[in-house]
Amino acid sequence: MLLRWVPAHRGYEGNEKADSLAKKGSKNIDSNAVSLPIPKVIGNSALRRRTTRKTETSWNKLPPSHTKRMWRNKFTKEIPKLNRGNLRRATQFLTGHAALNYHLNKYKPDKISPTCPHCLAEEETVGHFMGQCPKWSAQRSALFDSFYLSASDIVDNFTLTEILHYINDTRRLADDHSRT
Ligand SMILES: [Zn+2]
Repeated sequence: MLLRWVPAHRGYEGNEKADSLAKKGSKNIDSNAVSLPIPKVIGNSALRRRTTRKTETSWNKLPPSHTKRMWRNKFTKEIPKLNRGNLRRATQFLTGHAALNYHLNKYKPDKISPTCPHCLAEEETVGHFMGQCPKWSAQRSALFDSFYLSASDIVDNFTLTEILHYINDTRRLADDHSRT
């Protein structure tokens, strides 16, 4: 599949240029979403200073304002570049409606406990999964340079691609067959 997303504000003129860019890009853009090398973490030191901060409890309970608080304008440029699987997982992360036990419990209260199946210590909310569950501390250390983070630490300091890199490494939201 050829992805021909070219941002208008870059001012490329004519289809010819756009086409050759798209041809070049078809190698890069599609693979960007999944196979980027671990990017240099921006603002590491600032992040380290703040990682002792407790997770905001409000984030864990996911009030309706979740999406608004998760969204950063920098994500706008990344969304069109995501493949279908990554877009699905990004949506779960950004809306808070993730296929995690805390949320699945709402649909199947008799069958699924809201408790995290990995550590059994807390409810498996998006906040727990992303920033707190000890099961994924190694992935966090590698990708976020910290074992435990708050939600705002994550969305403030990392790109959507980096966040997806974490999500994909855990395979916890690999709820479909299109992990491409
Ligand atoms: Zn856990």
